[in-house]
Amino acid sequence: MEHLRVSEAQHVISTSITRLGTETVGLEQALGRVLAEEIRANRDLPPYDVSAMDGYAVRSSDLPATLNIIEDIKAGDRPRLVVQTGQCARIMTGAQMPQGADAVIRVEDTQSLTDKTVQIAKAVRAGNDVRPQGEQMRDGEVVLTADTEITPGVIGVLATTKTSQMCVYRRPRVAILSTGNELEAMGEAVDPYKIPDANSYALMAQVQALGITPVLLGIARDDPDELAAYLLRGLEYDVLLVSGGTSVGVHDYVRPTIEKLGVNMKFWRVAIRPGHPLAFGCTDTTLVFGLPGNPVSSMVCFEEFVVPALRQMMGYSRRYRRTVTARLAHAIKFRAGRTEFIRVQLRDDGTGYVANATGTQSSGVLLSMAKADGLLVIPSDSNGLAANEQVTVQLLDGTSYQSELGFKE
Ligand code: AMP
Ligand code: MG
Repeated sequence: MEHLRVSEAQHVISTSITRLGTETVGLEQALGRVLAEEIRANRDLPPYDVSAMDGYAVRSSDLPATLNIIEDIKAGDRPRLVVQTGQCARIMTGAQMPQGADAVIRVEDTQSLTDKTVQIAKAVRAGNDVRPQGEQMRDGEVVLTADTEITPGVIGVLATTKTSQMCVYRRPRVAILSTGNELEAMGEAVDPYKIPDANSYALMAQVQALGITPVLLGIARDDPDELAAYLLRGLEYDVLLVSGGTSVGVHDYVRPTIEKLGVNMKFWRVAIRPGHPLAFGCTDTTLVFGLPGNPVSSMVCFEEFVVPALRQMMGYSRRYRRTVTARLAHAIKFRAGRTEFIRVQLRDDGTGYVANATGTQSSGVLLSMAKADGLLVIPSDSNGLAANEQVTVQLLDGTSYQSELGFKE
């Protein structure tokens, strides 16, 4: 089988996904979910014309003038009197405009003469500093469409429409499995001949960053029967992430064992560095990602393939990490042929982002990932990057997403 390009592999994964079902959640739990229903306004807001300032409600045609103050209107008050020529009302921000008045003049632009009179030297237009009825939303209008990502701003709008419960896409249930005889579990004593299991936890955190709480299945030894037992448990989830053992070594049992369990393998070679080998397959109910054992490779593959998949399942239309343009601080050597992801730090030097590689880029050195703000993407046909070249960097900050992949492979 040929190596797939990154976007081809993403396409295969994407076409294997059906969006998850929906559930009802309360407003307090809704942050980070995607709406599965549209939300309509249930009243006009503001419910009447209100003042946008602390000042005086006036008849604009009167100004400039010295006016008699006929009443004080605070937020929540109902005005009692009609403002006639030569009159005004003292009014607070958010208070209802009295009849007769058509504008507000800020207190800063007036001079109080007595408690009952105010001098206004300025003229204002009708509508000045008045928020018209329905400016924010009109009764019955759709204010949030289905598919809206629920951000803090959206939570505010939902509260405004008194939506205490809403229908959202459910989150996938994700299981994580590490494989390898050499691995030492967190709870085990330090053995100098073993390798601590980093992948279970790095992947756990990557899943958590998407708002999902995964289940750690533990460590399966490189033994077909033990592996099969673990994988079977993993197939009870919507998504199973297995790291290690996906290569073609004689003890790399993950791929054949997964296939024996009835998983339809879609690909196991992608032209990506770090990240080789990456396997993907599915059953009717579970997506299975066979991630590389190298901790950096496993994390990079998670970013490129699992992040968009999980976001698609949760109903997001923006699935890809945001990309930015940066200037490369130094030349980078590499081998052409695969799309390469260099871990970089970004700083803004006043003219834009400057990207610096985070030390050694060996796929076994997890600190290169730990220090990274982003992944600099080197297209597979490129054969060298010089200092000061314009590059594309995918941000790893976990809050910004876009609808397009955003880089050339
Ligand atoms: P593999 O893909 O199983 O051949 O593993 C490739 C490399 O990644 C080996 O050096 C493994 O020891 C290492 N590795 C595999 N799984 C993990 C893990 N869970 N945590 C840390 N290193 C791992
Ligand atoms: Mg292994």
